[in-house]
Amino acid sequence: MQLKPLLTRLHPLHRTLASVEMDEALRIVGEAMPAAANYAIESFVPNTPVWTWRVPERYAVHEAYLAFEDGRRIVDFADNPLHIVSYSPPVDATLSWNELAPHLHYNEARPWATPWVFKYYQREWGFCLPKDIFDALPRDSRYRAVIRSEFLSDPTAGGFRVSVGVLQPEGGSTPGAPSAGEMLIASHLCHPMQANDDTAGVVTAIEIAQRLAEKPLPTGSMDVRFWFGPETIGSIVYLAHHEELIPRLKGGIFIEMTGNDSPIAWHHSRQHNHLLDRITAYVLRDSEYVERNFADFPPNDERVINGPGVNVPCISINRWPYDEYHTTDDNPDIIEEDMLQGAADIVEEIVRIYASNYIPKRTFRGPVFLSGNGLWVDWQENFALNRAVEKIMMRFEGQHSIFDIAEEVGLEYWIVREYVEKFRAKGFVEAHFIPGEAPEF
Ligand SMILES: [Zn+2]
Repeated sequence: MQLKPLLTRLHPLHRTLASVEMDEALRIVGEAMPAAANYAIESFVPNTPVWTWRVPERYAVHEAYLAFEDGRRIVDFADNPLHIVSYSPPVDATLSWNELAPHLHYNEARPWATPWVFKYYQREWGFCLPKDIFDALPRDSRYRAVIRSEFLSDPTAGGFRVSVGVLQPEGGSTPGAPSAGEMLIASHLCHPMQANDDTAGVVTAIEIAQRLAEKPLPTGSMDVRFWFGPETIGSIVYLAHHEELIPRLKGGIFIEMTGNDSPIAWHHSRQHNHLLDRITAYVLRDSEYVERNFADFPPNDERVINGPGVNVPCISINRWPYDEYHTTDDNPDIIEEDMLQGAADIVEEIVRIYASNYIPKRTFRGPVFLSGNGLWVDWQENFALNRAVEKIMMRFEGQHSIFDIAEEVGLEYWIVREYVEKFRAKGFVEAHFIPGEAPEF
């Protein structure tokens, strides 16, 4: 599907930790997700303890502006939600320049742009404006600072929300039967009026969900869980409320900033050389890319998913850096459809390989009678596979996944998988699941 129109709908909303327009954004994401994902929004009670954190309150802004004493407005929240520091407490004061100045924020490098500043936990009010406007404000004037904001902790006000949709492989899953587990795809929906960070990651994730609905993963693959919400605290709140899910999670991908015209950057998992890292390197082998360590800048929800006591191997995919980061210049003008789709292509392939990979375990003794079982590979049809057959058959001892075998024999994953599936169809190998790294609860 075309992703930029969807991004352009989400972009202008006042999307923050929890707010009316964040609810609206979660609803729009639900409209765009495939029906098969059974997309659902979950709400949590503010101030509930979650691990070492607490569930944030909702934030409502009824009116906010900075004005001259005569009432002429300098910046207004109604024009752009970036004009106030996110989660500013209320203020209604007339101030001298010296009193006001510590509450003003601008971006030195982009003097025409308004920066995005958040103080979710410090609770200090502030206004954000272009440096050009800041410089022009008379130092001998008095100013009116008005923010009519409210923090809502009453659960009837709507609570703190995240959403998930889960896509199952071909044939679904049998309730109660052993499962291959799940992959978790996360992207953050917060950041008011920011396009690339991370509305871009959100629409890229939706595209991957659409593709997995259209062409499901092979039977027996992992489920793929798509998660949307506010960054860091959102995944903490969700996982702290669903600890039973953690041992099921076999791998994660955090996606952000996928729309600008830069090469893909990938951040290793905390394990660094996990199967997921090796599959990512394999998928990117013919692309131009940047490689970074786990939690290198910009770090995000992978620190939660792959963090202490959770430890689900999680890579991060983005196209950072870009100059417009955290300013009003991060808008749909810098977003390219090809970049969004290109990121979806890469993540989709990582998911398809990681989630469909398994450990083939031998049930036979002696070399398999290939031609007698329809397993012979004609060298004229596939010379490389013909040469690799013996090596593949020697690696069915339960030590190697299909991806490991493909890597060792130097063949494409899908060619080896298709061939191993023929052994499985004959009952010569059993499929064992890829083990998780997360602790049991
Ligand atoms: Zn950001």
